[in-house]
Amino acid sequence: MKNPFTLPRPVPESPWRWLVPVLLVLLFLLVLLWLPWQARQMESNERQEQLIADTLWVEQTLRFELARSEEALATLGADLAVKPPAPEVLQARLAQMFKNGHELRRVVWLDAAGRVQAIRGMELPAAGLTDSSREAGMLARTTRAGRYSEPYGATALLHGLIDFHLPLYHAGSYVGSLVATYNLQVLLDENVPWWFAQDNALSLLDRDDHIVATRAAGGPGRGIYTHKRALDLPGSQIVLATDSVKGAPKLVPNLLVGSVIVLALGLVLSLVALWRHIARTIAAENALRQQMAFRTAMEDSLLTGLRARDLEGRVTYVNPAFCRMVGLPAGELLGKKPPMPYWAPEAMAEYEQRFKKVLAGQATPQFETVFQRSDGARVPVLVFEAPLVDSHGRHTGWMSSILDITDRKRAEELNRQQQEKLETSARLATMGEISSMLAHELNQPLAAISSYTAGALNVLNRVNEGEGSAAAPALDITMLRRALEQANTQARRAGQVIRSVHEFVKKREPRRESVAMHQVVDGIRALVELQARQSYVTLQVEVPPDLPPVLADRVLLEQVLLNLTRNAIEAMQDIAPERRLLRIAARSSDGQVAVSVIDNGHGIPPEVAERLFSPFFSTKAEGMGMGLSICRTAIEFHGGTLTHADNPDGGTVFTFSLQKA
Ligand code: ADP
Repeated sequence: MKNPFTLPRPVPESPWRWLVPVLLVLLFLLVLLWLPWQARQMESNERQEQLIADTLWVEQTLRFELARSEEALATLGADLAVKPPAPEVLQARLAQMFKNGHELRRVVWLDAAGRVQAIRGMELPAAGLTDSSREAGMLARTTRAGRYSEPYGATALLHGLIDFHLPLYHAGSYVGSLVATYNLQVLLDENVPWWFAQDNALSLLDRDDHIVATRAAGGPGRGIYTHKRALDLPGSQIVLATDSVKGAPKLVPNLLVGSVIVLALGLVLSLVALWRHIARTIAAENALRQQMAFRTAMEDSLLTGLRARDLEGRVTYVNPAFCRMVGLPAGELLGKKPPMPYWAPEAMAEYEQRFKKVLAGQATPQFETVFQRSDGARVPVLVFEAPLVDSHGRHTGWMSSILDITDRKRAEELNRQQQEKLETSARLATMGEISSMLAHELNQPLAAISSYTAGALNVLNRVNEGEGSAAAPALDITMLRRALEQANTQARRAGQVIRSVHEFVKKREPRRESVAMHQVVDGIRALVELQARQSYVTLQVEVPPDLPPVLADRVLLEQVLLNLTRNAIEAMQDIAPERRLLRIAARSSDGQVAVSVIDNGHGIPPEVAERLFSPFFSTKAEGMGMGLSICRTAIEFHGGTLTHADNPDGGTVFTFSLQKA
């Protein structure tokens, strides 16, 4: 299983990272700007093409109208050349022609000499036809084909007129000509459809680009979409010019350009925002990565094992120290549920019981247990359990820190053994000191026993000698019993002294039990009295029998009391014998039992008080300086305290306090 806390490796910072998106954005903007331009271009092309097509169509219409008129003239001309009809018939045919085309203003029939044979429509000016018209007539005769003159009309009245000369031949010789005059303005007005005139300004131009006729129903042209097309009239260079009233396309491009600008601005803004967001994300990621690196380094260098478990007890995380402790790689631990590979078989029940509590949501906050390393070795550990709470405050599992307490356990064991040895030696030393007194003390019961048994023997002898008297045996037997009883008592007393010495000296494991304080005092009373008597000290014991018991090792407490009383007796050596009073007082308060050993001795000066409990500190010539040190260790072993204070009556009070059982 992967460590859930690992981050992906950092992506190296590349200066080109932004190049591609920036280029793409620029390209996008370019395309956006190009598109409206292209649309405008296409639209104007379309309009232009439309205009050309329409102009062509108008030109065709005009040409068709003129061609129709030419044809009518040609028919009439053919008749006139062969056999001219009667004047009224001619006039009727001409009238019909005028009716068919309103642009026709005048028709003149000239004979071969140029004299007017017939005329209909406008009158001929006095000067006759214009020069350009006459010239066109000459050319028509030469080319034997109909021909138009240039438009003429310097005056407003004649403005926009054009002549068509049709030479007439009969049997190969020129017999005259027909001259038709058209008004180009009427031609435009009559033949160009209104919708075209509405959208376009039309004009007919002569060869010098002068306007000879114009029509602009929708107002003047804008000069943007224009087209010119020659009408292609033989002999004349009339040009049809169209000029659309429509301007260049505006709305769509403006809309497009506007939206492009807005889009582009939005794009740039969002790009900048994205840029800043990414920069912030990268900065946050870097900070996170640094923190992760720091945390990982910290976890890896920890000597304390760390282990995380989910609510089902599945291992989700272990640090290297934990792996070292149990001798297994992380891969073999992650995702595992109990029973765990590091559980020692002998403690299985204990683990399972504790695991049940974990599942019930009540992990033991601190406990000592044993793990089994993969090589089978047992590792004593101290485990601290705490709930694992995620960032939303949800309880997601348990976090344990595990201390390998092998060294501590070893040191404790060593310490205990040394302490035991020391205590035994101290006891032996104490015994050494009191052995002479012991000999003395034993001497007394032994002497008493000896004399009682001697007395008993005497009585027996007397009984043997005085057989026959009746009263004597009864008295002797009473005496004999008393002597033996006394001997027995003395022997028991001696035995008790020996036993208490033996009990005290023998090496043993400390054993805690419920002990009544008066029993402890009674146990050493004989020994204390022995020493007290030796030093002319009066012993006073004030231990109420109803004191609550304490949980302690009785022999250790006896040793403490013996040491304290011995020190007290020794402290009173130099004062007047009648003042030598040793008190052992016990009382109970605040759930504790306090025992004080009070003397009237020389007291403890401050410089001695400082080092009082240091091992091997003594003010006595033959002192070992271990007594108080051992006392304090023994009392602290029981969770109690040992203190000293000055006795207000002179001397010192040593007090030890222990918890009630
Ligand atoms: P030791 O008795 O072998 O000297 P202890 O550790 O029992 O060693 O005592 C250390 C010193 O403390 C003694 O030498 C003595 O000076 C002082 N001391 C102990 N108890 C008393 C007391 N009741 N009154 C005065 N001094 C004391």
